[in-house]
Amino acid sequence: MRNQVIAGNWKMNKVLSEAEQFADGVTGQLPDADDVEAVVCAPFPFLPALVEKAKGSHLKIGAQNMHFEDSGAFTGEVSPAMLQDLGITHVVIGHSERREHFAETDETVNKKVHAAFDHDLTPIVCVGETLEQREADQTTKHIEQQIRTGLQGLSDDQVATTIIAYEPIWAIGTGKTASSQEANEVCTHIRDIVKDETSENVAEQVVIQYGGSVKTANIDELLSQSDIDGALVGGASLDPASFCQLVEAG
Ligand code: 13P
Repeated sequence: MRNQVIAGNWKMNKVLSEAEQFADGVTGQLPDADDVEAVVCAPFPFLPALVEKAKGSHLKIGAQNMHFEDSGAFTGEVSPAMLQDLGITHVVIGHSERREHFAETDETVNKKVHAAFDHDLTPIVCVGETLEQREADQTTKHIEQQIRTGLQGLSDDQVATTIIAYEPIWAIGTGKTASSQEANEVCTHIRDIVKDETSENVAEQVVIQYGGSVKTANIDELLSQSDIDGALVGGASLDPASFCQLVEAG
C-alpha cells in the first residue's frame, strides 16, 4: 500500500514571520497517521526556521528548486548539499513555472533528480501538459517524454521512491481542476510508463500526486481515484487550517 503525500508549494509567497506563524499553527494539528505525509515546500530563506519549528512534529520541509552541482561558481543558486545540511527532506523539481520562466528542461530535471538522490532528498518531479497540447491530443506523448527523460538512469529503488506530480498547466492557479477521472487517467498512464521503464513492483510503489487548483472542496474526490496518491497544492496550502484539512483528507 502506498503512502499518501500532501505537499504544499508556497511558491514566492509569505515573509519569514508568516512562515513561522504557519508552522506554529500546523505542527501540533497534523493527524498522527503513518500512511499520510505532510510536506511544505517553502522559499529558501525560510527553510532553517521551518526545519527548526517542525522538529518533533509530523511536518516535513521541502525546497522548491535547487541546482544540480554541489558547489561552484553559480551565482544566486542553492545546492543539494546545502539543502541536505539544513535537514530538508523533499525538493520540487521541474515545476512548470520553472520550465516556463527559468528555462528548465527535461535534461536539467534529470540532472537535478540524480543530485537529489545523491543527497538523500526525495524529488517531487513535476510533469504536465499545456492547454494547447491537451487540445491537440498530445498529453500522453508529452508526459511520456517528460518522465522517460526526467527519470533516465535512475536505479529501480530510486524510481520507486520518486514522487511524480501530475500538474496540468491549464489547471494551475486558474480555479480549473482536471476532473478526477481526467486526472486519474493521466496518473494511470504515468504508472504504466514507470512500469515499462522498470517493473510492475516499482510502478506499484511510486507515489503519484495530482496538482492544479486542489482545495479542501475537491481533494476527497481526487484522492479517491485509483492512481492518485496525494496532492501538490499551491494557493490552498498557504493557510494553516486549509493545509491541515488537506492533510486530514489523505
Ligand atoms: P494551485 O494549487 O495554486 O493551482 O497551484 C498548483 C501548483 O502549481 C502546485 O505546485
